[in-house]
Amino acid sequence: SALLELDEVRKIYTTGSVEVAALAGVDLQVHEGEYVAVIGPSGSGKSTLMNIVGCLDVPTDGTYRLAGEDVSTLDEARLADVRNRLIGFVFQQFNLLPSLSAWRNVELPLVYAGVSRDERRARAVAALERVGLGDRAEHRPSELSGGQQQRVAVARALVTDPAMVLADEPTGNLDSRSTADVLALFDELSAMGRTIVLITHEHEVAERAHRRIVVRDGRVVEGNGGPGNSADS
Ligand code: ADP
Ligand code: ADP
Repeated sequence: SALLELDEVRKIYTTGSVEVAALAGVDLQVHEGEYVAVIGPSGSGKSTLMNIVGCLDVPTDGTYRLAGEDVSTLDEARLADVRNRLIGFVFQQFNLLPSLSAWRNVELPLVYAGVSRDERRARAVAALERVGLGDRAEHRPSELSGGQQQRVAVARALVTDPAMVLADEPTGNLDSRSTADVLALFDELSAMGRTIVLITHEHEVAERAHRRIVVRDGRVVEGNGGPGNSADS
């Protein structure tokens, strides 16, 4: 069965008496090991979809099942627990703490997970090695290039061994060389079987994924469904 499955997901924002359907009935399945890109024009609902897929918010209507669990109606505390257990986040703005070294940034999700100090350090260093930054563990973010900072963020996303890596415009702040580095890293993670959901408005970035999901006016208009029906036309 699918790792994540959205069924008729709607998200309505109400401002005064005006209702906006940011998501107007989204059906979506992503299977374990898939690498999918979500693309669509500005205002189409990508961020809203990312927030729901990432368990940062819940739908107004419809169901979202993640790893077999219905997460559509969880309260904030339970949602936070699901996020910490199942999802590794990569953001456009890296979101590293400037005063902490690379490995201290990477170990943070393990602090929240209650992992012992020695194991945290070992796993953080191993995650940095996996992204090619084993020799930068003691560097602070300001001592690293943008591409290296984003790779630290990828290491932080991987350190809990999440069911899915969810990346929101991960190359949006990178030059073309660092973009190539980060995309090569995603290719490697994908080749090792990691499930990746990548939100982007850059077509060259989306091209690297195995499947493209096109969102328009709050609906998935292309690329829905599992690997079996991923025809892109
Ligand atoms: P995208 O990420 O593709 O640019 P969004 O998910 O941010 O799209 O927005 C989809 C639609 O929902 C837009 O019309 C946007 O104005 C509206 N929207 C998003 N967030 C809010 C909010 N918090 N309150 C009201 N309207 C919102
Ligand atoms: P963008 O740069 O694409 O606008 P952001 O990085 O601002 O995206 O964040 C996208 C969503 O994720 C927002 O709803 C934001 O509140 C949430 N978010 C940002 N940083 C974190 C974080 N470190 N942990 C959890 N949620 C976050």
